[in-house]
Amino acid sequence: MKKIDFPNREIWFGYHSEVGGFIYDKSAQIGLPSKKVRLFILKEQKTNLFIADILKDNLIKFDNTIFEKNKILINAFIKELTNRVITKRITHCWGCKRNLNSVNYEICSKCKWIKCGCNACGCGWQRFHKDK
Ligand SMILES: [Zn+2]
Ligand SMILES: [Zn+2]
Repeated sequence: MKKIDFPNREIWFGYHSEVGGFIYDKSAQIGLPSKKVRLFILKEQKTNLFIADILKDNLIKFDNTIFEKNKILINAFIKELTNRVITKRITHCWGCKRNLNSVNYEICSKCKWIKCGCNACGCGWQRFHKDK
């Protein structure tokens, strides 16, 4: 994998035979179930959870051609991450009470709330309060 320069964060680019190019962001691995890893899949433009072994199995040996091919997507990811760092929101999870921020966690595409590692977001909060 190749390390990507980013202030105060450890970010890596890797390439896997099945998922293609992905980004591993060390700061985005908080609160995950054990042996799971959160990766941003470049061609799908979204974050998914994978079994941590994915980083060992079928990983394609890094070469610069692959990096160059993915460079536009990587740069777009870096730009988006930079925006998230600038507009950082801090809150806590209504489900498990963990502290959350809009940089290290996903944003739910439906409710735009920060999505916790326990899967709580605004969608669940609305359901929870309607049912009472
Ligand atoms: Zn939570
Ligand atoms: Zn939601």
